Amino acid sequence: EKPRIVDDEEGGVLFYSASASSSSGYGFSSMEKQRQRLPVFKYRTAILYLVETHATTIIVGETGSGKTTQIPQYLKEAGWAEGGRVIACTQPRRLAVQAVSSRVAEEMGVKLGEEVGYTIRFEDVTNNDLTRVKFLTDGVLLREMMDDPLLSKYSVIMVDEAHERSLSTDILLGLLKKIQRRRPELRLIISSATIEAKAMAAFFSTRRHRGPDNGLKKEPAILSVEGRGFSVQICYVEAPVPDYLRAAVSTVLSIHDQEPMGDILVFLTGQDDIDAAVQLLTEEAQSSRKQGLIFLPLYSGLPRADQDLIFSPTPRGKRKVVISTNIAETSLTLEGIVYVVDSGFSKQRFYNPITDIENLIVAPVSKASARQRTGRAGRIRPGKCYRLYTEEYFIKEMPAEGIPEMQRSNLVSCVIQLKALGIDNILGFDWPASPSPEALIRALEVLYSLGVLDDDAKLTSPAGFQVAEIPLDPMISKMILASVEFGCSEEVITIAAVLSIQSVWFPGRGAQKELDEAKLRFAAAEGDHVTFLNVYKGFLESGKSSNWCHKNFVNYHAMKKVAEIRLQLRRIAQHLGIVLKSCESDMQAVRKAITAGFFANACRLEPFSHNGLYKTVRSSQEVYIHPSSVLFRVNPKWVVFHSIVSTDRQYMRNVISIDPSWLTEAAPHFYQRQLLNPNPLQV
Ligand code: ADP
Ligand code: MG
Repeated sequence: EKPRIVDDEEGGVLFYSASASSSSGYGFSSMEKQRQRLPVFKYRTAILYLVETHATTIIVGETGSGKTTQIPQYLKEAGWAEGGRVIACTQPRRLAVQAVSSRVAEEMGVKLGEEVGYTIRFEDVTNNDLTRVKFLTDGVLLREMMDDPLLSKYSVIMVDEAHERSLSTDILLGLLKKIQRRRPELRLIISSATIEAKAMAAFFSTRRHRGPDNGLKKEPAILSVEGRGFSVQICYVEAPVPDYLRAAVSTVLSIHDQEPMGDILVFLTGQDDIDAAVQLLTEEAQSSRKQGLIFLPLYSGLPRADQDLIFSPTPRGKRKVVISTNIAETSLTLEGIVYVVDSGFSKQRFYNPITDIENLIVAPVSKASARQRTGRAGRIRPGKCYRLYTEEYFIKEMPAEGIPEMQRSNLVSCVIQLKALGIDNILGFDWPASPSPEALIRALEVLYSLGVLDDDAKLTSPAGFQVAEIPLDPMISKMILASVEFGCSEEVITIAAVLSIQSVWFPGRGAQKELDEAKLRFAAAEGDHVTFLNVYKGFLESGKSSNWCHKNFVNYHAMKKVAEIRLQLRRIAQHLGIVLKSCESDMQAVRKAITAGFFANACRLEPFSHNGLYKTVRSSQEVYIHPSSVLFRVNPKWVVFHSIVSTDRQYMRNVISIDPSWLTEAAPHFYQRQLLNPNPLQV
């Protein structure tokens, strides 16, 4: 069959093409045969030809067609990794990086970390001399630019999952476009499931360089890989459901009762509701004596062993139920799924530059996402998708497409990275989707107050460069720098490590009361950050025992991760000349260091509030302490928080009590306006 190269006129992608699969049963064939059965295999020659002849190739293909696992191998086979060069493939999600790289290593019959390797933040499984195919997050590739601005060791960079339009993907695309001008030999592949191929092509086409140049075409090529999906029947609910979690649970159980065998994939929003659903399902299945169901959660913080279960074949006579975040939407392909239950929601970041608050909100997905989710049911045979929303809602209210993260994020990290790469004119940067000027200005203002940018909006030396060097949110990095002054860098580095993981607590064991009691054993009056120090201390004193963790409702895998991250942060700190010192039990020093990084997140308890209402000092936004915080119901007068989550209200997560005078000490400029008032910080 001849490959069909779609030109600019028709970039359309087929989602539910009902063509039958040519493969007939698998399990006995060699890895090589499996590889050849993937839809992308037919396009191997075409892809290699386009990459050879075009600076940029855009490849659109349905999830599971083999883009991520095969294309890097084709490139390697065609010689793109010869002469010490490396082929890179980026992903927005860490878990996907790990999963696909181990799959590719397996297919190539090599040991992961040698010829095929991966790098995610705080985890580098590559070998400088051996690694030829490297999977990494787009954020890590951005970081690599700080040492090697032209990414000179890479021959081809495949930016995968571009339709996700993650913040880092968009920054990367903007920068790669610049790099291409300086490195004409570099090849880019932009690949995704639902990309707006034409918009992407328009972004990469360079009018000035029209026409061939040394035989290399500057205009991007677009190739569409025809999938082999089966038809999927879509079922809507008749009336809106009041509680998507319960609706999802009962839908799963009725599928199990009424439908033939086949695995189920449920899309929920995050670890909390996924764990709750697993628990509800387990209970219901037990009480109604339902046999043969295996419930598996899937989210980014999942330990390695649990991830492997997701990919292992379903035992005969059993039905796997995978309950996932939108990571299973396009980033990972699960075999055997016949039924999809779509809650219609996902967790999304939203930033409001006026209030300067970035929220994590459970929000409706787009039609494009809903279609992707549906498509997951048609991989091995015709399937069914149960949408937990009405057809009318889908048609009339669901937005056609998601908003790029660039336009709904706090841009502090983004701006500092561009500054560190020497890009001064941030407002004039060529973005795939322009962020709002307000958000950019807010970011510049915060960075100025953090002492990271000077009056000319250039990185300060050394503080600005140091903050940029630490691979963490600039507020956390600043907190680490400030800890030197307060003599508590050891403690603050532990806190920074804990803030980099999801939670130190073990959730979802259905024992809220016991968990609360366990927390009380570590709870510090100062707040959550000091509590984390107590947990970490206990963990060390137990000899990093998993048994101790279990007894105390502490997440063992998370704590091991904290210890690992901590080591790496210490190494980075030493490299930057930061003095490592412990303040022993002087928690005031620790709180002052936290304030030096997080002053922008300061809140004051409303004077006559009986229900714990706080207002942010900067923009008078109403916020509350999250019930998971040790300061919930304690309600100190002044606090700073690490992040906000929204449900019915805006909740502060990871909260520490402070003295308001520290705010003006930490950031006189930032609180200038308040200072003009007489005694503004007094209650
Ligand atoms: P795409 O990137 O186009 O969505 P992939 O290259 O990720 O497709 O997947 C191609 C095929 O490889 C899928 O059919 C999937 O079954 C298989 N595969 C990918 N990752 C794994 C894995 N970790 N374990 C087992 N099979 C996998
Ligand atoms: Mg992929």
